[in-house]
Formats: sequence, C-alpha cells, structure tokens
Amino acid sequence: MPVAETRKPIAERLLSGDRGAVARLITWAENGDPRFGAVQERIYPELGRARRLGITGPPGAGKSTLVNELVGELRAAERQVGVLAVDPSSPFTGGALLGDRIRMEARTTDPGVFIRSMASRESHGGLARATIDACDVMDAFGFDDVLIETVGVGQAEYDVVSAADTVVVVLCPGAGDSIQAMKSGLLEVADVLVVNKDDLPGAHRMAADLDEAVHIRLAGRGRWVTPVLTASAGKGKGIAAVLEAVQRHREHLGEEGLAAARVEKRATQVRLALGERLDEALWGEGGFQQRVERELATGRTPYAIAGDLLDDVLDRPGASEEEE
Ligand code: GDP
Repeated sequence: MPVAETRKPIAERLLSGDRGAVARLITWAENGDPRFGAVQERIYPELGRARRLGITGPPGAGKSTLVNELVGELRAAERQVGVLAVDPSSPFTGGALLGDRIRMEARTTDPGVFIRSMASRESHGGLARATIDACDVMDAFGFDDVLIETVGVGQAEYDVVSAADTVVVVLCPGAGDSIQAMKSGLLEVADVLVVNKDDLPGAHRMAADLDEAVHIRLAGRGRWVTPVLTASAGKGKGIAAVLEAVQRHREHLGEEGLAAARVEKRATQVRLALGERLDEALWGEGGFQQRVERELATGRTPYAIAGDLLDDVLDRPGASEEEE
C-alpha cells in the first residue's frame, strides 16, 4: 500500500474498500474505542444499503453449517457478504468459535467474503452495541449482506441478533423439542423459522407443530406470520428457500416498515451506548464508589443512597422523596 494510502483517515480507507480498515474498526467497536465516534460521524450517511440478517438457535442446530451454505448461495448471486460470529458466552478468547470457523475456511479465501468473530469483553449490552457498530462498518464498506450468527441462544443472543432486519431461528429435531422452543421465547424473536436436519426423523413433525403454534400465536390481519421451513444445511438442501423467506419478510416490512424498525434499533443503540458511558462515568475513576462506601459506613441504607445518587445524576433535588 502506498504511504499516502495509510495516512488517509481510517473511515476514508473503509469507504474506499480497504479490508484492513474493516478489521481494525470492528476491533475499535469491540473495545468501545472512543475514536469510533468520529468514524461513525463520517460513515453514518452512507449506511442502510446492506441487508442485515441474524441467525440464532440452540448450539448444534446447524447455524454455522447453514451460514456457510447461505454465504455460498449469496456468492453465487455475486453478492458481497460479511459474517459476524458473535459469542456472548465466551468472554475471553472466543475460542469456542474457532472450530466452527474452520469449516468456513473455503470461504475465507474468497475476497467477496469477510468473516469475523466477536466475543464479549465486558457487559452483554456492550457486545450488542458493538455488534451494531460492526454491522455499520460492514455496511459502509459495501457488503450487500451482513450475517450475524450467534453461538447459542438466550437473552444475550437475542439482544445481539436484534441488530438484524430479519432474524432466522434455526432448530433441529433432538436439540430440544418444539414445546421447549415455544417456551423459550424463540418464536417471538423469529421472523423465519428453519427446522434443520430434515434428513433426520422428527424434523417434519417438529415443523408441523411449530407451524401450528406460530399460526395460533401470530395470525392476524396484516401481521407477518413466521414461515416454518425445513432444510438440511448439511446436504445443502432448502437454502434458497431460506433466502426467499428472508426476502418476503423484507417485502412485508416495506421501505417504511424497514426504516421504522431501523430507527427503533438506533434508539436501542443510543440507549446501550448511554448505559455504557453512564456506568463508566459513575463507577470508573473519580466515580461514586468511595462516596457510597463512606455513606454505607454511616449506617445509611443502600436504597436511600441510591435515591440520593439518582437525584444528583439527574440534577433533581430530593425528587425521590417527593414521590412519597
Ligand atoms: P451450530 O452449533 O448451530 O452452529 O451447529 P453446526 O453447524 O456446528 O452443526 C452441528 C452438527 O450438526 C455438525 O456436526 C453438523 O455437521 C451437523 N449438521 C448440520 N446440518 C445438518 C443436517 O442438515 N443434517 C444432519 N444430519 N446434520 C447436520
């Protein structure tokens, strides 16, 4: 790379298609690097072109295999694809993802694909916020599709995939039955349900049960009724149908619906960013810790102290007492 290139601001390098800038900026996002704010300022007007697709479901359901197949299908359509594999449960190395990623190796030599693992450094809220930032980076770079894959399933995973325009939930027979899936709130987050491993017994039965449950819960005029598909990612079967269902969901939302949903997600991003900053400001250096310890030593109760601190932070004198 010519020296002049490396001196260009990183946001400009990203927008001019420098893959190194993608990697670096996602690291900034992960670390909550304060320099990301200026980058966001520059790239924000460029955002919104990429389709953001979330893929979640219990471990072993076949998410990684499906993502690999989806990438293949999208590449065949000459779309540029970014993949974010997010693991809220492994705070240190993201090592759990490594095995999964090896299967993706064939894709990593393809310049039309960019794969990145992200793991939780601090709070779950931080990872959800970082995922949105990482999607923005990939969007600004020019990827047509950004796939956000989570390792497991749970509240932290839902928070992460909610950065997506469309959420695909992957299940399979054996890894928990359909009743469990219904109870776990998976149906509520799913825009598309895929019962994977339809080469195994029980898959079609499971799909029929889920389909019935979805209809009972969601059917109503104008509402999107989550389609339940069967597929075999392992055999490369039913992959195009998943993408078609995703497309139908986008069409159902329409431009206005998509824009409204995205604004709602941006508000969540503001909330998460504010939460992180408040936490740092309140409990980082020069924060409340010592004052709290002093007041506890005088015998004051935690709620009384918390009430006072809240009043201080919100600059409202004694408001909590007025609520009496
Ligand atoms: P993840 O944990 O949800 O990402 O699941 P993986 O993609 O790692 O898949 C878990 C296991 O299921 C692996 O051994 C896959 O080879 C296997 N698998 C994936 N798709 C299929 C399928 O369609 N049929 C069968 N029989 N096995 C599959």
